Amino acid sequence: MIKAVIFDIDNTLLSFDAYVKYAMKNGFEEFGIGPYQESMYPVFHRINLGLWEAIERNEITFEELEKVRWNKVFQALGISADGPAFETYFRDCLFENAIPVEGAADLLQYLQGKYLLFAASNGPYHQQVNRLRIAGMLPFFSQLFISEEMGCSKPSEQFFQMCLLRINQKAGDLIRPEEIMVIGDSITADINGGKQAGMKTCLYNPEKRTVPFDQKPNHEVMSLEEVQTFL
Ligand SMILES: [Mg+2]
Repeated sequence: MIKAVIFDIDNTLLSFDAYVKYAMKNGFEEFGIGPYQESMYPVFHRINLGLWEAIERNEITFEELEKVRWNKVFQALGISADGPAFETYFRDCLFENAIPVEGAADLLQYLQGKYLLFAASNGPYHQQVNRLRIAGMLPFFSQLFISEEMGCSKPSEQFFQMCLLRINQKAGDLIRPEEIMVIGDSITADINGGKQAGMKTCLYNPEKRTVPFDQKPNHEVMSLEEVQTFL
């Protein structure tokens, strides 16, 4: 029986994609880069995803991602602009933005009181706390597990072991890994990480990405509303 739920933040509770489009549209104008076009977002998405996967494989750090991300995007778009300066704008703007994923607030409301709720993220600490606060989601969580503060990141074993330890410091009864469900959009960070720690997993997969057979989660949903059918 599930007793605790760990939510991923970006693109599970808060829409990072919607934010990026917003920041590109406004930022390109502000930086005199020229008009933003819909076809530009997929370029950012591909480069950003590649960099985050490199972080998950411990090949680069988040600080390194910040240095190269927008230079790579601008280069791929054939735009001449200052990548690190745009990164600063992008990050400042993100700090104050929290666009909820459809159904996220309703789901938290539904789960509240039934389960202990936690949120886990590889993003920067103050930024993620602030964004959950703006979205009105912060009060739902017993505790946040943010990599910057934990000193390790998803999907490492150390990260999920630390989550388990902290959850049990909060809980009255002992909670075993299989009584915890991880809900997230990343097959690498959330699903593989949770599975390796012996936890149950739910993949939020609105884009219907193909999941490799050996990485199947316990549940797969295309909308957050569907989570209510098994929790
Ligand atoms: Mg995510």
